[in-house]
Amino acid sequence: MGRLFGTDGVRGIINEELTPQQALLLGMAIGTFFGPGTKILVGRDIRAGGYMLKSAVIAGLLSTGVKVYDGDLAPTPALQYTIKTQDFDGGVIITASHNPPQYNGIKVVASDGIEIPRDKELVIEEIYFEQRFKPVSWKLLLEDAKPYPYVNDLYVKGVVEKVDKDLIKSRGFRIVIDPANSVGALTSPKIARELGVKVYTINGHLDPAFPGRYPEPVPEHLVETTRVVKALNADLGVAHDGDADRAIIIDEKGRVQWGDRTATILARYLAEKHPELPRKVYTAVSSSTVIEEVLKPYGIEVVWLKVGSVDISRTMQKNSDALCGFEENGGFMYPPHQLVRDGGMTLALLLELLASEKRKLSEIYDELPSYYMIKTKIPMKRDQALKVVERVKEYFKNYRQITIDGVKVIAEDFWLLVRPSGTEPLLRIMLEAKTREKAEELLSTVKKLAEEVLSGK
Ligand code: MG
Repeated sequence: MGRLFGTDGVRGIINEELTPQQALLLGMAIGTFFGPGTKILVGRDIRAGGYMLKSAVIAGLLSTGVKVYDGDLAPTPALQYTIKTQDFDGGVIITASHNPPQYNGIKVVASDGIEIPRDKELVIEEIYFEQRFKPVSWKLLLEDAKPYPYVNDLYVKGVVEKVDKDLIKSRGFRIVIDPANSVGALTSPKIARELGVKVYTINGHLDPAFPGRYPEPVPEHLVETTRVVKALNADLGVAHDGDADRAIIIDEKGRVQWGDRTATILARYLAEKHPELPRKVYTAVSSSTVIEEVLKPYGIEVVWLKVGSVDISRTMQKNSDALCGFEENGGFMYPPHQLVRDGGMTLALLLELLASEKRKLSEIYDELPSYYMIKTKIPMKRDQALKVVERVKEYFKNYRQITIDGVKVIAEDFWLLVRPSGTEPLLRIMLEAKTREKAEELLSTVKKLAEEVLSGK
């Protein structure tokens, strides 16, 4: 049997790898999984083919007797928050998140607002591939899908009420929001306005051609945005991905701050502000160990997990002892709101943090220890990548190691992560060291071990 779901739903180039025929059948499979009479919320980001895929999925769902509510254009976290708080049995989101414009995707969310776990995806895949759909009698087809135009308002309200509105208002902040011409434009500017913040947007109109920039909020796509932040002398900038579950922060000096640095200052702030919240931070092994270094003195423990946001969400849910969770790419999770990545909530929390300080945002980031970072990959088969991981383990055997996903080696003045890619024939290497020389020395060590495996030594 083939595989349909990747690490974050079904993804592909629209009309080539992901067709309306597939979307229809997948809608039937998802409907068969949830069953007749269940309430399912459907929504999408701005991507090309989004309306087409949504319509096909809705047709499939309706054929199985599901009650469909159409939330249409909304950020992924807004749909997830609505599913969780408004008593839906689940949801389907048409999005390809940060992927380039030609991609689209479909993901399934459970009643708790979190993406369904892997074993449930397998059940849906089985129904799909074996065509075990359960269409219902005409008597259960008497209702059409209902428009549900409340998602974005519910979400904005939910975010705003979780922060200190008066404190933020008192500071008269001016910020730049870059929603990448997608659905973040429908909520983040409103969140900021409700908090008394003056907003300037860049790439703020909805456009599936993504004329402003590629949807992934990484420094090379944010050159113009950082210029605008500086030119307007704004207090900060925030850049979302295509479905606004990520927020990458730009400080007032126009420097893009990577997600694990933002998560570090947010976790420290939340621990001080809310002593009643638990003291554990959940993240994937791909995040910087800066977070451990900074948070240890505050009695905060970092729990390292496999790469993948669903794993982080589900583990936080199971253990119910999380202060917060995050991915280094800007996906931050705040449990009092919801256990999933949430760009709008991240922005609101950061505004509260900044309002509680008498300093510029750049000064807060500059306090963090700084490392020289290298991120690279070497093409090889999975079994070869696993062999390299074993050699790295052996080579660094006298250091602390985390072996939950490849191997992460943690030392006083460096850390490195070597792991096989989950989706491609690649070995992924990430490392940080206090100096550039040390970082390059570590990289050449790992490369040498990889070359030995590739040459069969
Ligand atoms: Mg996303």
